[in-house]
Amino acid sequence: MRLPGQKTKIIATLGPASLKEKTVSAMVRAGMSVARLNFAHGDLKQHEKAVKLVRKVSEKLDRPIAILGDLPGVKIRVGEIEGGSVNLRRWQTVTLTTRNVTGNESVIPVQFKDFPKLVSKGDIIYLSDGFIALRVEEVRDQDVICKVLVGGTLFSHKGINIPKARLAIDAVTKKDLEFIEFSLEAGIDAVGISFVGSAYDVLKVRRFVDSHNGNLFLVAKIERPDAVRNFDEILNAADGVMIARGDLGVEMPIEKLPILQKKLVKRANCAGKPVITATQMLESMTHEKLPTRAEVTDVANAILDGTDAVMLSEETAVGKYPVEAVKMMAKIARTTEAYLDSMWASRTVEWKMNELKGRGPAKGTIKDAIARSIIEALNSLDIKYILTPTRTGQTARLIARFKPRQWILAFVTNEWVANTLMFSYGVYPFKVEETSEEEIIRVITGLGLVKEGDTVLLTKGTPIGKTVGTNTIRIFNV
Ligand code: PGA
Ligand code: MN
Repeated sequence: MRLPGQKTKIIATLGPASLKEKTVSAMVRAGMSVARLNFAHGDLKQHEKAVKLVRKVSEKLDRPIAILGDLPGVKIRVGEIEGGSVNLRRWQTVTLTTRNVTGNESVIPVQFKDFPKLVSKGDIIYLSDGFIALRVEEVRDQDVICKVLVGGTLFSHKGINIPKARLAIDAVTKKDLEFIEFSLEAGIDAVGISFVGSAYDVLKVRRFVDSHNGNLFLVAKIERPDAVRNFDEILNAADGVMIARGDLGVEMPIEKLPILQKKLVKRANCAGKPVITATQMLESMTHEKLPTRAEVTDVANAILDGTDAVMLSEETAVGKYPVEAVKMMAKIARTTEAYLDSMWASRTVEWKMNELKGRGPAKGTIKDAIARSIIEALNSLDIKYILTPTRTGQTARLIARFKPRQWILAFVTNEWVANTLMFSYGVYPFKVEETSEEEIIRVITGLGLVKEGDTVLLTKGTPIGKTVGTNTIRIFNV
C-alpha cells in the first residue's frame, strides 16, 4: 500500500460536474480525502445517490473518505429574476420584496419571510458575494426600498449579506435540522454548520444529534463577525472549524481576511481541532485548466499557516476540470509540505509550546503531555511512523497539530471515527477489529509499510483493556 503523497487533506465539493463514478474515483486517487455535499443545492435524492457513490468508490479503492454535508443555514437568497439576470445601476432605486414576484430592474424578490424585519434605514445590504451594495432608504411592510451604491449584474438565486442584521436570526433553521436527520439516515460523517454565531448554535446541533443517538462530526463555519468574536467558545463546542472566506469576506472588511485566517488557524491548531481553509482557493480552475499564480500561492500559504485541510467548491462541483483541480491542490500541498517540515521543529518549540500553555481544552491533560513528548522523540530519532490506536481519534488529532514529518497511522475500531480523521493533517486512519500492538504491527507489515528493523513510535493506554486513555509511548524496532 502507498500512503497519499500529501499530508494536507483535500475537501472537494461534489456536484453536477463530478457526480460520476469515474470522476469521483479519479478525484480520490488524485488525493481527495473528504467529499462535500452542499445541501444548499440539489435535492435529497441526489445527495443520497452521492453518498452511495462515494461509499462505493471508497470500498473499491480501499481508501477511507469522509462525507461532509454542508447545511445551508440562514443564507438569504434572491429569488427568480426574469431572464435570469438584471443590471442594477448606481444611484437607481430598487425594491427588495418578500412578495411573490419575478424580479426585474425595479423589484427583486427575496426568499426570506422575515427579511424586512432584519433591516432598517441606513443599513448596507450586499448582493452577489459583495459585488453589489445597496443602502436601505425605507422599510414598508414586505418591501425594503434601497438605493444602489455599487451596481452590477445580479443573477437569480444569488446570496444576500446583511452584516448588521445577522444577530437577530437563529443560525440553525428547521430546514437544517431536517438535513441533519437526513445525514444521520444516509450515514454522512460530518456536517458543516453555516453562519454560526456562538457556541449555542453548535450545541443546539449537538443536542439534536445526541437525541437521535447518532454520530456527526460538527464543523462550525466561521463566516460572520460574531463567530470571529466568539471563536474560542465555538472552537470548544465544535469538532472542527471552517474558515468560510466566501461569506466572511463580505461580512467583514475583505482586507482583514489574511491575518484573520492566520490567527484562527493557529488557535484551532493549539486546540487540536482540524481547521479547513475554504473558498476560491483555485477558483479560476472552474473554467481554466491552470490556476493563477495568486491562487497557487494562496493554497501554499494556507498550508504554511497550519491549515489541516484545503477546500474546493465550484471548482469541483460545477467546474470544467474537477480532477485536475484536486491534482493541482495535491501537487501544491506536496511541494509546500517539504518546506513546512523544515520549519516544523522551530515552530514547535517557539509559539506552539507557548500557546499550549495558555489556552485550549488540551491544557494540562496527559494526552497533551504525551503529544509533546512524541515531538521530542521525533526530533532526536529516525522514526518511520507514529502508530496511534485511538477510540475517539483525539490522540491522533493532538499529535497532528504539531504537523510532524511522519505519518500518524491511526488505528480505530469504529468506522465513523476513522472517517472523521480524514479532516486532520498527516493522519491516515485504519479501521481494524482490535487495536493491540500485535495487530497493528501485523497490519502495517502486511501492507508493506514497514520492514524489519524500522523504528516506530506507538502510543498506548495502559493497563490495556481499561479505558484509561493514552498515557504511554513505546519506541521500538519492528
Ligand atoms: P458556502 O460556505 O460555500 O456554503 O457559502 C463557504 C464560504 O462562505 O466561504
Ligand atoms: Mn458561506
